[in-house]
Amino acid sequence: MKSIAVIGGGAAGLMAAGTAKENGSAVTLFEKNAKLGRKIAITGKGRCNVTNNCSENEFLANVVTNPRFMYSAVSAFSPADVMDFFESRKVPLKTERGNRVFPVSDRAYDIVDALGAYASKCKITHEVVTKISVSDGSVNGVYVKDKFYPFDAVIVCTGGVSYPLTGSTGDGLSFASELGHTVIPPRAALVPIETDDRYELAGLSLKNVTLTVSRDGKTVYSELGEMLFTHFGISGPLVLTASSLMKQSPVSSYKMSIDLKPALDHQSLDKRIISDFDKYKNKNFGNALGDLLPIRLIPLIIGMSKISEYKKVYAITKEERQRLVSVIKAFPISPVSFRPIDEAIITSGGVSVKEINPKTMESKLVKNLYFAGEVIDVDALTGGFNLQIAFSTGRAAGLAASEQDY
Ligand SMILES: Cc1cc2nc3c(=O)[nH]c(=O)nc-3n(C[C@H](O)[C@H](O)[C@H](O)COP(=O)(O)OP(=O)(O)OC[C@H]3O[C@@H](n4cnc5c(N)ncnc54)[C@H](O)[C@@H]3O)c2cc1C
Repeated sequence: MKSIAVIGGGAAGLMAAGTAKENGSAVTLFEKNAKLGRKIAITGKGRCNVTNNCSENEFLANVVTNPRFMYSAVSAFSPADVMDFFESRKVPLKTERGNRVFPVSDRAYDIVDALGAYASKCKITHEVVTKISVSDGSVNGVYVKDKFYPFDAVIVCTGGVSYPLTGSTGDGLSFASELGHTVIPPRAALVPIETDDRYELAGLSLKNVTLTVSRDGKTVYSELGEMLFTHFGISGPLVLTASSLMKQSPVSSYKMSIDLKPALDHQSLDKRIISDFDKYKNKNFGNALGDLLPIRLIPLIIGMSKISEYKKVYAITKEERQRLVSVIKAFPISPVSFRPIDEAIITSGGVSVKEINPKTMESKLVKNLYFAGEVIDVDALTGGFNLQIAFSTGRAAGLAASEQDY
């Protein structure tokens, strides 16, 4: 019987361990935390957006880094397969806006429990693996400090370096580079952004706005949705997604702007302002925007429009009004840096995909060494795609490791 060590009891590790066990291997799962699946428990704000109810091609379109590497693994274990996997284990699922799939119970723990049950026939040990042992180009076991455990194969599912309190401290990246693998330096993705101004707007949340990001005159991202201002800058769904697409450094080389009235083009917005100005014609400009904009934004918009807040509305010129329209349609934000990687939802970077077989997840450098999940240099947008990456790669590695002849 093949003996397999799975390092890491997160989404990828639990899937890999359960799969290998189901295929007849003797599996030992090493998880350094006292509990399995700590990161899964906090996903989707405790509700776990477990996958996306989409086709394989749509899935690949949402993978930001190395989508082609994911092609085989997601064809073999697709979003539909992940949904079947949980539903057949008595976790009913529901599909929400954007095809995001959640447990009907809205409890991420139901996903943790189902995966825990799947892997429960494995030997589970709460020890920290400190080294992977290789002899003659092939894995022969793992070390926990100076204690050696022999294995025929090892699957590294240690995650990235984001949210390290959940256990993801980058151990797998060190193992991989010690064994000669190229590791693309970890970088924060799906992360809030620090800006050089707007601090006074902390707590203000905007719905139905369009966030646009550009660099060197080219639009990198433009999407309608929600965002919020924080004490350091900006966050929320639009901002997290934008951050994953802002791959060039420095972050300050990007320009960001918010269209506060995306449903109205310049002309329609101008008409709307004319009608508001008619209503408030004898008031000061500073008191004429309350019907159009969130109160807290008004002083900033007034400043940028360069119209005195004390000017009587009836005296505002067409040119001034058009300046106001331009500010509302493109409220500028100056990004300075990403928040630290600890606060990132995802780690971009990891073990280079060039050195991993995309069908089996086996290392091309070391025999019987496999990788799965966020430790690999693949990352996706929000929507359940990152857990799908963990499940598809975990499945592929678990199957291949248990089918291999030793
Ligand atoms: C706040 C937050 C919300 C998220 N929400 C979603 C969401 O709703 N949908 C989605 O698709 N994705 C979401 N993600 C991303 C998703 O959680 C990750 O992509 C996914 O969990 C990665 O799984 P993994 O198994 O590769 O790594 P992890 O889940 O990080 O698991 C790695 C495990 O390895 C263990 N480990 C590490 N080193 C060792 C060692 N040396 N020895 C033993 N054990 C070790 C760790 O303790 C850990 O349990 C979210 C992430 C965060 C931080």
